[in-house]
Amino acid sequence: MAHDHPGDDHGQHPPSDMELRVKALESLLVEKGLVDAAALDAIVDHYEHRVGPRNGARVVARAWTDPQYRARLAADATAAIAELGYTGRQGEHMVALFNAPGIHNMVVCTLCSCYPWPVLGLPPVWYKSAPYRSRAVIDPRGVLAEFGVSLPDDVEVRVWDSTAEVRYLVIPERPAATHDLDAEALAALVTRDGMIGTARL
Ligand code: FE
Repeated sequence: MAHDHPGDDHGQHPPSDMELRVKALESLLVEKGLVDAAALDAIVDHYEHRVGPRNGARVVARAWTDPQYRARLAADATAAIAELGYTGRQGEHMVALFNAPGIHNMVVCTLCSCYPWPVLGLPPVWYKSAPYRSRAVIDPRGVLAEFGVSLPDDVEVRVWDSTAEVRYLVIPERPAATHDLDAEALAALVTRDGMIGTARL
């Protein structure tokens, strides 16, 4: 999913120290026969292609159509998301953030790149970038504007800092005039950035 956000520096800069360290470590482990390169590729492929924002979109669509599910999601998001079969690493302690007419939620990890893998897959490059991580907290409206989102002044922006303990999923408001859509068509309206809070639907 391409994104022209200015914080997305993928491919324009040399790899960071951390990326080089990870690469070096991976090469060494493969060389010594301690890990299997194919197994690593399979793990990355799993999160890139089989797990992804479509999972989160199904959670959102269910929350739009099933008030009891929505209540369970509000009370215990980890359990409600697990009902749909989405569990695993980086999704152990989920909290759902419900957008409302006067409230817009936005998620960041200021420390690193904590992200709810079971519902959103792997984080986009801009989510991990230093500019997004710092500016989302200092100037959330400015960051939102760069994503093409301008919110009325009377909408409160709530920024949530992910940690190793808690991962967030934004539940956008259901778009108007969607009453005749089924769950699958509703889920198709839900974007990854909408569930991070850097887009509106
Ligand atoms: Fe993090």
